[in-house]
Amino acid sequence: MRILLFDIDGTLIHAAGAGRRALLAALQGAFEVPEPRCEINFSGQTDGYIFTQALLQNRLPATAENLRRLIDHYLQILPHWLEQCSGVVLPGVVSLLGRLQQVPGIHLSCMTGNLASAARLKLQHFGLWDGYFDGPHLFTGDDCQQRDQMARAAAARLAASFEGIELDLWVIGDTPRDVRCARAMGARVLACCTGQHSRDEMAACQPDHLFDDLSDVSTIADILCGDRHRRQPAPLVVTP
Ligand SMILES: [Mg+2]
Repeated sequence: MRILLFDIDGTLIHAAGAGRRALLAALQGAFEVPEPRCEINFSGQTDGYIFTQALLQNRLPATAENLRRLIDHYLQILPHWLEQCSGVVLPGVVSLLGRLQQVPGIHLSCMTGNLASAARLKLQHFGLWDGYFDGPHLFTGDDCQQRDQMARAAAARLAASFEGIELDLWVIGDTPRDVRCARAMGARVLACCTGQHSRDEMAACQPDHLFDDLSDVSTIADILCGDRHRRQPAPLVVTP
């Protein structure tokens, strides 16, 4: 069984700052912080890490109770900011997912630093939930501060779910953290440069395959569906 674990932000969609705007609004709404700070690079981080840092930057104790309060406000207000910000589905994504979901033996899933509820809200907003990622497996940043930890937990959950079945894991992501967490879970990586990181930065992480974006649907689908029995990591292929 081949499992394709797609990152969300910067890989499938660009939310145009909706998450940051929602977090700032949640800090105001939940804690009445008049001018909240959020000097955090979200790229490749888990929401658990981002929300903890947001509390600390605003001189709020990062207690479980405060985190819950902040998250509740964030999830309430996120749909509003998804509507307000002009986010997009990234090039090639709809065609690629449509093609992959028809291939027997390929299982589409998401592995994202988003909270599960936030991941669902984002994917629903962009029309990528129903029929693509509404299955039982969604691996998210709810319980983990670090992406590598999240990836190892995902691998353990998958191994338990598909007990006795050989799994071939792939991560599709846009940050060096996606590449690193893929290695932490023994997965291969197809990386794209649609997030904040340049092609050079992504190439330096040595993903198995690297594309500017996911618009070369035929080539990418062939890679993600092909040679399903090969277990060795593929060499780095840098496409022009
Ligand atoms: Mg990303």
